Parts: sequence; structure tokens; C-alpha cells
Amino acid sequence: MTPLYLKPYYGLLPILKVETLEHSQFLMEYLRRLQLASLLVLAFVCGLSEAAQVALIIDDIGYKKTDHQVLALPTNVTLSVLPFTPLGQRIADKANQQGHEVMLHIPMQSLQGNRLGKGGLNNDMDEAELTGILEQALADIPYAKGLNNHMGSLLTQLPRPMHWTMATLQKHRLFFIDSSTTKYTVARDIAQQYQVPHIKRHVFLDNNLDPKSLESQFKHLLWLAKKRKSTVAIAHPHKETLRFLVANLDRLKQAGIELVPASEMFKTIPNNTGFQNVISIKKQ
Ligand SMILES: [Zn+2]
Repeated sequence: MTPLYLKPYYGLLPILKVETLEHSQFLMEYLRRLQLASLLVLAFVCGLSEAAQVALIIDDIGYKKTDHQVLALPTNVTLSVLPFTPLGQRIADKANQQGHEVMLHIPMQSLQGNRLGKGGLNNDMDEAELTGILEQALADIPYAKGLNNHMGSLLTQLPRPMHWTMATLQKHRLFFIDSSTTKYTVARDIAQQYQVPHIKRHVFLDNNLDPKSLESQFKHLLWLAKKRKSTVAIAHPHKETLRFLVANLDRLKQAGIELVPASEMFKTIPNNTGFQNVISIKKQ
């Protein structure tokens, strides 16, 4: 018989000597409880490491005076800057100093023929021309750790310019985020061939600046983030968007979602090779 005075301590007291059948049962029960506790701790730790993650990218930065206001956002918001713009370089400098992750937002030819501005890539360019412009744009925004396309509903459908783009990104160890301006994009398939880390944009937060629309897109982001674990949202430096984000970004945390720089996405995506190079080289 187990002494009565030991019963309240079941599961707490280690039995050092196994002298009787009773002690042996007591030891088994103790080990079972220990195992259960370890599993609970493991589940908790895994749960923490698998918290849903959102990368929020503000792009189209560089033309308007008010674009400076993006610097008031939390530093885990990623800022993607248009090259050769009046304010792009200055904002990228400050963003980098403040600890924001910076990206290059490169204009690419659209189906609608929108004006591209300086640094725009189009289908009339040969390899030397396209690569030359991309190199200059990267030199203009030297802190860029990755690139996403501005427009590009035509160019991202075309294999040749995408090969040249991805070869340049591979050379500089940069990642690619497909803004997904067309469902016929081949950009990510070609990024994969060059081992360029890549992911697509899942939601635009501010195609409509009406407060109800901003709220409904933000709710959609919360829903997607819980479902997908790694989600990319893109928004723009409109005053309505920035006001909404300042007031609402905390809701991500409250929902158990982690807001991370865009490059963090590649730590959790299987078969997305090359990210180790991006992270290690850029930290040097
Ligand atoms: Zn854009």
C-alpha cells in the first residue's frame, strides 16, 4: 500500500527507489504525468513559433510630399520605394536608419499602357537595356532587400523579361514579391528557376479609400492570416490608409498575428530556396 501521506503528492514526488509493486505503479504514474507536461510545453512552444505572420508593404513611395508620413508607421512595416523619384532616396535612407525593411518598387509595363516613369521596364527592351536599368534602379535604392512590381500586368506575363529580371535578383541575392497585377503572371515560376525567394501579394488593403472598404479589407487580411500562416498585404501612402493603419495595426497583435518584415516570409515557406543566402548576406 502507498502510504496515505504520499497520496496528495502524486505526480510531484520522484520515487528514487522502486522497492514494491505499489512504488512501481507510483513511478509509472509520475512518468506519465511528466510526459504529459512535456508535451504541453512542446505544444505551447510550437504554437508560438507557428504564429500567423503578416508582411505589410507600403509601396508607390517617392512622389508625394506626404509620403514621408510612412516613416511614422511601426518599423516592422516594409517600405517599397520607386526609383529615380523626387523623394524616394531620402525616404529610403530614413526608413533604413529607423529599421524598416526597404524594397525597390520597379515600374513594369501594364496592359493599359500606363505611364511608367523613369526606371520603368518594358517589352521593347533587350536584355542589356532592361538589366542596365534594373541595376541603376537598385543603385538608386541601395538598401533594397527585395523587389516588387509597380503595375506590370503585361511584363510579368512575358518569360524573357522575367528571366532577365530574376537573373539580376539572383545576382544581388534579393527576394521577389509578385504584386499579382495579372493572374497570368509567370514571374514566380521563373523566380523559382533562379532560386530567387518569392511570394505573391494576397490582399490590397486600399483599392478603395472609403472607411468601410478599408475596414472590410483589413478584416479580410485577419481572416487570411489565420488561414494561411504567411500573408502579404500591400497598401499605399494615402492619408486615409495611413490614418487607418495607425489606428488599427494593433488588432493584428490582439488576434495573435505577428507583423513581420517581408523577408521573414521566406523562413516559413517550404521549397522556397535561397532565403538563407538573402538573410545571411544582407546582415553582413
Ligand atoms: Zn505600385
